[in-house]
Amino acid sequence: MVGLLGGTFDPIHTGHIRVARAALAAGLSRVVLVPARQAPHKSGLSTTDPFHRFALAALAAVGETSVGVSSYEVLREEPSYTINTVRYFRDRGAQVALIMGTDSLVEVETWRDCRELLDTAAILAYPRRPFLGDTVAPKLPDWIRGRLAADGAGRPGTVQILAGPPDDVSSTLIRDRIRRSEPLDGLLTPAVEEYVRKNGLYAGGGPV
Ligand code: ATP
Repeated sequence: MVGLLGGTFDPIHTGHIRVARAALAAGLSRVVLVPARQAPHKSGLSTTDPFHRFALAALAAVGETSVGVSSYEVLREEPSYTINTVRYFRDRGAQVALIMGTDSLVEVETWRDCRELLDTAAILAYPRRPFLGDTVAPKLPDWIRGRLAADGAGRPGTVQILAGPPDDVSSTLIRDRIRRSEPLDGLLTPAVEEYVRKNGLYAGGGPV
């Protein structure tokens, strides 16, 4: 079963990699990072050129066993609806799991064709503040809460909370630190940090 970890990845950070590893540890055979061209819920915000974000994801995957990258969303003009990406992988014969943080899980009902999404794919959600432990289930609508399973990895229709410590890194934190010339403390992998620096990303020096 292939796990899709979608995101803006602006930039990809060690929190994303931690989530990918946890999904593999839960039994997935492969994780594919799927940088969004334009996330529908971030349509008002300007994001870095999708090809830079794709390159960052590819660099982050180097050396990560069983982690790949898909260009499916960055190559398409339309906003990146996860259901389209899931259909694409499913139509090519893949059994699909969707990987996300619990902050995304509590919003998943607002995603396009959410019922089909949850019927087609298993959901694996990694704990992210403030949605930890027992605080997650009450935030879910009944029909999604009813799908929570202790170890559903591999079963379409189930929602599983992955095991692991919360990690407070976010892309917003990284962008803020770079803008203020503050240390990144290993929150980006060395290759990602080098690419960000060489291309002047997030430094506020104008378009890239
Ligand atoms: P931003 O700060 O720009 O909103 P982000 O750090 O949340 O970005 P995204 O690319 O939007 O990163 O996240 C993609 C997916 O990865 C989402 O499902 C998100 O919940 C999850 N994710 C990102 N960082 C973490 C983290 N530290 N712990 C758990 N899940 C995370």
